[in-house]
Amino acid sequence: MIISVVSGKGGAGKTTIATSLAYILKADYYDLDVDAPNGEYFLQPQDWQSRRVHQLQPVIDKDACTACGLCTHECRFHALYKILDTIYLTDTLCHSCNLCQEVCPEGAISYQQMSIGEVRTGLSERTAARAIIGDLTIGSTRGTALIQDIVRNLDTTTGHVIIDGPPGNSCAAVAAIKPAELVVLVVEPTPFGIHDMLQTMEIVEGMQKPVVVVANKSQDDAPLQAILEKRGYAISASIPLNSDYHRLLLDGEILSQASQHVHDVLQQAISTEVAI
Ligand code: SF4
Ligand code: SF4
Repeated sequence: MIISVVSGKGGAGKTTIATSLAYILKADYYDLDVDAPNGEYFLQPQDWQSRRVHQLQPVIDKDACTACGLCTHECRFHALYKILDTIYLTDTLCHSCNLCQEVCPEGAISYQQMSIGEVRTGLSERTAARAIIGDLTIGSTRGTALIQDIVRNLDTTTGHVIIDGPPGNSCAAVAAIKPAELVVLVVEPTPFGIHDMLQTMEIVEGMQKPVVVVANKSQDDAPLQAILEKRGYAISASIPLNSDYHRLLLDGEILSQASQHVHDVLQQAISTEVAI
C-alpha cells in the first residue's frame, strides 16, 4: 500500500509520523519534501546510490529569431520576455511545457537538459528498508516536477511505501498525494493548524482518498474533534505535546521506535486500513 503522510501546516510533525510509520511497517520511505528533506536524519540510511533528474529548458537561436514575440505572448508562465529585439528566459518560471517551440514560426527554439535535482537511495538498518530522498537543486522552482519524477518511479514491489510529502497545499503537495492509497493527515490542533488542515482535507476529498487523521503535539483535541465530526471524520491517533518526545527527536530517534506509546497509537490508527 502507498501511504502519503501530509499536513497543511509546516512543522506539524509530518516527518515524525512518516518515519514512525516507516519503522512500524518496515516500509520504504520516500522523502518528497524536496525543498528541505530531513527524514534521513532519523532513518540514517547508508550505501547511497544517486541519480540526477533533468528537465528541458528552451534555448533561443538568436540568428534564427525574428523577435516576432509570439513565444513571449503564448508562454502561460511568463517565463519569456522581450527587450528590444532579444528574447530572454527566466528559467525559474519555465515549466518545460514545450509550447514556445511549438508556436515559433522560425524554428528558433530548441531545448537543453537542465538538472533540477537529485534522488538518493540508501538502506536504513533502523527500518530494514530503503530511504529514497529527493533533493531539489538550490534555487530551482521545479519541486513539483522532481516529485512527479520520483512518483513515476515508485517501487511497490518490496512492500508498503511511505511518502513524506511537502507541507502546504500547493501543486507539490497534490503530486505527493496523487499516488496514495491511504492519506495520513497530520494535524497540529491549533487554530492555524486546523485552518490549513481543512484546505488539505478539501484536496484529499476531491481526490477521493481514504484518510486517517493524526493529531500531533496535542494539548486539547476537542476543537479539532468537533470540526472533524461535522465532516464525518474522527481523530485516529493523538500524540501529546511532550518535551520528552522533543528530546528524542533532537537526538535523531524515530519516535515509534523510542516510544512504545507512540508505536501503539499509530499502529492502532492505521490497522483498519493497512495489513500489518
Ligand atoms: S517551455 Fe513552456 S513554460 Fe517554458 S518558456 Fe516555453 S512556453 Fe514558457
Ligand atoms: S516565436 Fe520564435 S521567432 Fe518569434 S520571438 Fe520567439 S523565438 Fe523568436
